[in-house]
Amino acid sequence: MVTIRKIGGAMKGLYRPHYFCNLMFKSLQKVGLPLTWSAHRNCHSSTVFINQPDMKITILSALEDNYMYLITDEKTKEAAIVDPVNPDKVVEAVSKEGVNLKSVITTHHHWDHAGGNEELVKKVKGLSVYGGDDRIGALTNKVKQDDEFKIGSLNVRCLFTPCHTSGHICYFVTGESGEEPSVFTGDTLFLSGCGKFFEGTPEQMHSALIEKLGSLPEDTKVYCGHEYTVNNLKYALYVEPKNPDIQQRMKWAQDLRAKSVPTVPGTIGEEKKYNPFMRVSVDAVKLHTKKTDPVDVMGALRKDKDSFRPKF
Ligand SMILES: [Zn+2]
Repeated sequence: MVTIRKIGGAMKGLYRPHYFCNLMFKSLQKVGLPLTWSAHRNCHSSTVFINQPDMKITILSALEDNYMYLITDEKTKEAAIVDPVNPDKVVEAVSKEGVNLKSVITTHHHWDHAGGNEELVKKVKGLSVYGGDDRIGALTNKVKQDDEFKIGSLNVRCLFTPCHTSGHICYFVTGESGEEPSVFTGDTLFLSGCGKFFEGTPEQMHSALIEKLGSLPEDTKVYCGHEYTVNNLKYALYVEPKNPDIQQRMKWAQDLRAKSVPTVPGTIGEEKKYNPFMRVSVDAVKLHTKKTDPVDVMGALRKDKDSFRPKF
């Protein structure tokens, strides 16, 4: 069974429902439950392949709503995995695609992102493990703002985005053909939302979302850590109920989720239209928070969303 997801008319994605949620299988095995096809179907999203001229991104669902991303350099078949919380599923994808996994890219230390690192480095020898926080398991290469490294011929630039955690890094990936770049944003930027401020301030999230991520090219594809888009859009509509762009985006997201297709990737340009946390200077958003300074608006939005319960 094959479904094509068109993004901007330029890319194609295929999904194959036979990829398994191995972690879920393991838990079922542990409690002695029989393994059936219905357990497979409980993966929250289908595996989707995004093909660009220089790089291929395989979107792998994990846990309840996490995403892992296998990034492959098409020229050398060298690959990196972002936040491999389910190592068995990663190893299966690497073998199916016949790529050479060389590195682990970790956005932050939370268990649902970094919790598979130790097991994966045991399963695949010689991996480099990148991250910006000493709390990340199996870390070999600690990175900071503007550090660069390679996945084959692809270039990766690190963006230090502390706030959700104090060592959070986003990774900006570009190829040689001048194609649209990609950014892997972990729990800093979600589609139409952002991560909770566990270890940081509104100033830091403003710097991350508006100054760093907001200044990337508009067509940069955004691959975030969780599938939260529909719920985030409920809040975006609460902030700006009359915004037709957000209303349309909600319909788009609900249609995809009804088919268990990921809403990622979005783009930086789209986020500026749909994400209240990237719209802190827009009048309607300022009005909602009753603040005017963009940093104050950022803080007020986060506080408001933390207690928000959607009515639909
Ligand atoms: Zn997190």
